[in-house]
Amino acid sequence: MSDNPWTRALEQLHGAATRLELLPPLLERLQKPDNVITVAVPVEMDDGTMQVFEGYRVQHNNIRGPYKGGLRFHPKVNMDEVKALALWMTMKNAVIDVPFGGAKGGITVDPKKLSEGELERLTRSFTRQLAHSIGPTIDVPAPDVNTTPKIMNWIRDEYSNTLGKDTPAVVTGKPVEQGGSEGRTEATGLGGSYALFEILAQLGRGRQGLSAAIQGYGNVGQYLAEFLKAGGVQIIALSDSKGGLYIPTGIADLQAVRECKERSGKLAGCYCVGSVCDLSNMEKLGGHDISPEEVLTLPVDIVAPSALENSITKENAGKVNAPIVLEMANGPTTSEADVILNSKRTLVIPDILANSGGVAVSYFEWYQNMHGEKWGKEDVFAKLKEKMEAAAKAVYEASREYDVPLREAAYIVALKRLASAIQ
Ligand code: NAP
Repeated sequence: MSDNPWTRALEQLHGAATRLELLPPLLERLQKPDNVITVAVPVEMDDGTMQVFEGYRVQHNNIRGPYKGGLRFHPKVNMDEVKALALWMTMKNAVIDVPFGGAKGGITVDPKKLSEGELERLTRSFTRQLAHSIGPTIDVPAPDVNTTPKIMNWIRDEYSNTLGKDTPAVVTGKPVEQGGSEGRTEATGLGGSYALFEILAQLGRGRQGLSAAIQGYGNVGQYLAEFLKAGGVQIIALSDSKGGLYIPTGIADLQAVRECKERSGKLAGCYCVGSVCDLSNMEKLGGHDISPEEVLTLPVDIVAPSALENSITKENAGKVNAPIVLEMANGPTTSEADVILNSKRTLVIPDILANSGGVAVSYFEWYQNMHGEKWGKEDVFAKLKEKMEAAAKAVYEASREYDVPLREAAYIVALKRLASAIQ
């Protein structure tokens, strides 16, 4: 067992494949990515110097359709991480049942240290390097950590310039006014709430009055908080990379907290009463500052790691108090931690189900671009709900049928669909 995400992805694959007595040719194919692309990404910096960054795209498998998966800009991006994320995309796309294969990519860079101009030149340079390997029916990138709708639109623009033809369907997660889908920004967080509520419904459990703590307050964490709250769950704690806040009676005004984070660049200190968000409200609200690590071990009903891989490890898994872990990040639980959580009978709603709402709406965006359609937000949310509930039900039923935890059940659902596609 290992904390290396690629080794872990292979272990998960093998576990479910063995239970299913999967045919060796399919397993052989899934344990090796179809294409592994490494590119040097030269960028002219604002001071006139040239820097060369390392970029990756791993196209894991396209049995079910074009490769599909996000792009991550982060200093820790490396090949094993990208390979694991690509394999998880193949599984996720099969679980949520969209006609895509799996891919992932990224650049090893700290985008917070780049100016807007440098970030744009980096993105355009990377797109030129990949232009012959991506395309609407080949491989369709999407946002991930530190990549925004604006960045997706630079990719669309650069790719279209290279081809001499506007091609919006080359990438998803674009701004709505530039060919993006309504609801894509909210999709992953909203989808996570649908998955959770469906699993609770399958278990015959209510959701009113439940409490949640969320680690990671980016695209996924922010919307998850808002949609969980709208569904009756109290949000007790939130954190970003620098720190967080804990209010045991529940965070009342998430909108104010979001605006405070946007203004100040950090969550810590965002104790909001009315329009005032600062430390002077901390005592009044009975809250206190908290570290990103502490968020995971609070006495709440649901803990939702929504930042990066490996946040629940063998060191802290024993201290996770919540009976439900909703894995919104990709690969947040190491293999050792998974064993510990399973032995405590913690209900882990696995990443390849919980965060699949993002790729579901990415598929809707791609479909709208390919067919020249434009769907309204309500329509998108209704279609997303249907997909998430069907996927969660299928995973729950597989877990009952095979008497396995939800993660293995999700792999079983995915592998059965991949096996029938190959046949
Ligand atoms: P994002 O918008 O870049 O936000 C990432 C958040 O995580 C930020 O709030 C960041 O803090 C926080 N963070 C980073 N390192 C942390 C640490 N060590 N401890 C606590 N918080 C930390 O990224 P995202 O799109 O929300 O993605 C989050 C996760 O969801 C990733 O695992 C991603 O692969 C997965 N995911 C995303 C999507 C999608 O549609 N975006 C879809 C499926 C899965 P700062 O705010 O301080 O930078």
